[in-house]
Parts: sequence; C-alpha cells; structure tokens
Amino acid sequence: SAGLYLVATPIGTARDITLRALDVLATAHVIASEDTRTSRKLMDIHGIPLGDRPLVAYHDHSTDAVRQRLLSEIAAGRAVAYMSEAGTPLIADPGFALARAAAEEDLPVISVPGPSAVLAALTVGGLPTDRFFFAGFLPNTKTARHAALTELSPIPGTLVFYESPKRLNDMLTDARDALGADRQAAICRELTKKFEEVARGSLDDLVRQFADRSVKGEVVVLIDRPRHAAADPAEIEAALKDAMKTLRVKDAATL
Ligand code: SAM
Repeated sequence: SAGLYLVATPIGTARDITLRALDVLATAHVIASEDTRTSRKLMDIHGIPLGDRPLVAYHDHSTDAVRQRLLSEIAAGRAVAYMSEAGTPLIADPGFALARAAAEEDLPVISVPGPSAVLAALTVGGLPTDRFFFAGFLPNTKTARHAALTELSPIPGTLVFYESPKRLNDMLTDARDALGADRQAAICRELTKKFEEVARGSLDDLVRQFADRSVKGEVVVLIDRPRHAAADPAEIEAALKDAMKTLRVKDAATL
C-alpha cells in the first residue's frame, strides 16, 4: 500500500537482506536510492527485476523538485521504496529530509528494518550495550574533533563513532588525549565481510596497535563510558543520599 518504505540493505554480505525488504523492492511502484548503481546491483543479485519502474536518485541535497516528485507519488497512492548506499537509511546516511517531509504531509512512513553498522558493532564489540550514544562521524579538524570528544566524554554509555580508515589513527590519538589512555574501546572493521576484525583494548593499546598499520575498509569505533560512571541518575541520587546520611552520623558523633 501507499507510503514511503525506508529499506535497510546489507553492510557487506549481500544475503543480509530481509525477506520483507525483498518483497518491498519487488512490489514498490517507485524505487528511490542514494546510489542507483549499488541498488541496481543488489536487486540483480536477488533476482528482482526493475522492469519499467522508475529508479530515482535521491539524497538529502537533491532539489526540492525531486523530493516533491517522490511525495506526490505517495500522495497518489503509490509505494516508494527508499534505500541508501548501505545499511539503514537516515543513519549517517540520507533520507531524513524525505522522511520528515512525508511525515509533515501526513503520508505513511514505513520502516523495513535490517542491517546497520551501529548495532552490528555493538553486538561484537564487547562493551556494554545497555546504553549507547551514537555520535556518527566526528568533525574533520583536530580542534573541532577534540572539542566534540570532550563534550561526549562524560556520557554514561558506550559511545559509537563511524570513522573513515584514513582518519582512524588521528581519531584514536585524539580520543586517547581527550578521554584518557585507560578508557576501554573497540575497533570493529569490515563487519559481515571477508576481513572482519574486532580489536579490543584501552585507547592507549589501540593507538599503539594501529600506529603502523595502513587501515583499509570500513570502521566503527566504540568507546566505553568513563569508569565509575553511574548507570542511572536515580542511582547517583541514592548514592549521594547514602553519603549524606553517613556524613551526618559522623558529624553527630564528633559533636
Ligand atoms: N547507513 C549505514 C548504517 O546503517 O550503518 C551507515 C552509512 S555511513 C555513510 C558509512 C559508515 O558506516 C562507514 O564509514 C563505517 O563507519 C560504517 N560502516 C558501514 N558498513 C560497515 C561495515 N561493514 N563494517 C564496519 N563499519 C561499517
């Protein structure tokens, strides 16, 4: 039925696509994609013919005219499937402006969930998964990166970063300097692909391990919460109350 279907696609292994995603790609009236070549290839691999359906290139910097065209297809009762180049659209990928515009026009927005490097990395990284903060890509310049890391430092949850292989060493060095050499971290590389690798250790260990490697492929960096960070604001309050009780007893005893 009519709507904007946000379709997650594999982050490496082509068979990591859901059966529902294949159904949606086979039946949508219009296919829209960040990268039409990759999408065509994925559909080919899974034996889904495009037929005479339009394949529209769309990213959030596309003109309003392209966005309006897709929205008017939905308003006219058609199903539009949107995929980004890999993984889940909108997650460090285009699709947000389109999804928001559809929601604002009260058009149905439908999730077809599947792979995303954030969740894949959390599952193999070996760091706590109860709470995490997705920080996406850090800024390019050293000063801005350091400021961003310092701001993220006290968050009581696992930090998740997307990073380019070229910048990995600089990012690790800045993270060590901003967050401390002992912070635990994990580098999750080439997930679901042939050279999948997870390196775990302190930021200091990882800076050393990667110093003389020329890293290739795709990387997610996970960084642990600060040590002693309480899991929950209620716990912090309870701990403070306890501490105050003890203080009062001690004060009373000395009086
Ligand atoms: N939308 C995608 C998702 O849901 O994960 C993310 C797109 S973002 C432009 C690309 C970044 O995701 C890469 O630079 C890398 O940090 C991460 N990534 C994507 N695929 C990956 C993989 N197979 N292994 C490790 N990281 C990956």
